[in-house]
Amino acid sequence: MTPQPDPATGAAVKAADRAHVFHSWSAQALIDPLAVAGAEGSYFWDYEGNRYLDFASGLVFTNIGYQHPKVVAAIQEQAGKLATFAPAFAIEARSEAARLIAERTPGDLDKIFFTNGGAEAVENAVRMARIHTGRTKVMSAYRSYHGATNTAINLTGDPRRWASDSASAGVVHFWSPFLYRSPFYAETEEQECQRALQHLEDTIAFEGPQTIAAIIMEAVPGTAGIMVPPAGYFAGVREICDRYGIVFILDEVMAGFGRTGTWFAADLFGVVPDLITFAKGVNSGYVPLGGVAISGEIAATFDHKPFPGGLTYSGHPLACAAAVATLTVMAEEKIVENAAHIGEHVLGPGLRALAERHPSVGDVRGTGVFWAVELVKDRETREPLVPYNASGEAAKPMGAFAAAAKKSGLWPLVAMNRTHAVPPCNVSEAEVKEGLAALDTALSVADEYAG
Ligand code: PLP
Repeated sequence: MTPQPDPATGAAVKAADRAHVFHSWSAQALIDPLAVAGAEGSYFWDYEGNRYLDFASGLVFTNIGYQHPKVVAAIQEQAGKLATFAPAFAIEARSEAARLIAERTPGDLDKIFFTNGGAEAVENAVRMARIHTGRTKVMSAYRSYHGATNTAINLTGDPRRWASDSASAGVVHFWSPFLYRSPFYAETEEQECQRALQHLEDTIAFEGPQTIAAIIMEAVPGTAGIMVPPAGYFAGVREICDRYGIVFILDEVMAGFGRTGTWFAADLFGVVPDLITFAKGVNSGYVPLGGVAISGEIAATFDHKPFPGGLTYSGHPLACAAAVATLTVMAEEKIVENAAHIGEHVLGPGLRALAERHPSVGDVRGTGVFWAVELVKDRETREPLVPYNASGEAAKPMGAFAAAAKKSGLWPLVAMNRTHAVPPCNVSEAEVKEGLAALDTALSVADEYAG
């Protein structure tokens, strides 16, 4: 589809946005949101006629790309049949979405509590764990993001927590494995794994195991930098949780539903947590939906005792119809297999080849369509291209990189000193090659700030 320029409409859209829309995470006077006219597949376009290859998948949620005709049709059909209904009833779209999700989750995580997004999923998973164990504290990793509601933002291990951290959420943070910037001075993945597990074990011992309800971790930390945990790490966490009666929650809001080249990242590690939180890819964000997949044991806690939580739109029919269609399309079109193939044969090797040519690239890591390129001033010292949590002038090198990418027709995801290559799971080889060429150009700009 060729976008038709329509600058007048674009200007009106922009003016109303600036007058009335209050944007997330932003100083309202300092932002300049792009007015978007449309989107299809891996691309979106503005009113000036500029088309962008979306290497951010929105906010890492359009796992089947934009405007998939079968999912759009399913939402339209559901709207015609039953556009909304209260959560206490059995509704076809909700029942079927729950069945399809449970079929894909590992182990006996066969009951689904629906929410409107990821943060609510995290809130309710923690609520379940606290009631199930009768304990209060929850442990989460530094270098993590779990959402912007109260418990979820306090669990988060990045600067977005600071403004909301009341130090009263019952959260204890610990360091998760990340060899490139090892908190444990490790030199191999094996050392990193072993030391990270020892650190977790020590933290639990000093906190008091009987005070800890749950450990929540992103299956592959996303916003924090796409660090695939070393082999054996989650098996170790599972064993520690079992030993102390701690609920193990894997947050798969970003990693789940194909992004890692498997249905869930848990499948990469052969681990079965007690709860999985999900959102985003479950229906590619076409209608807001999230949820918690619950093990038999935790579900049984609420067999005869009411679960004290609920949402007006829990399992909304339009969102569930979108999930049913998305999961069906993903299977029919082998979209998870495509993500694995792209990661192994096109995107991973392509990014590594860029790393060889560009001195600003310190590290390339990832799996499936879930990759981070870490930019540094100096490959030896690994000094980040911009300081941690930089803004304004200090963040200029990343701003210059992003501007160059956009000029080349690529919409990048930039987080601190990283760019994440996270296209839709059904991205084609040709689209990835186009994206890699644009990154090549943009990295030449980043190189000017390195060395
Ligand atoms: N958990 C993870 C791992 C996420 O990446 C996110 C959002 O990016 C959330 C939770 C919060 O999800 P939401 O923004 O839908 O509330």
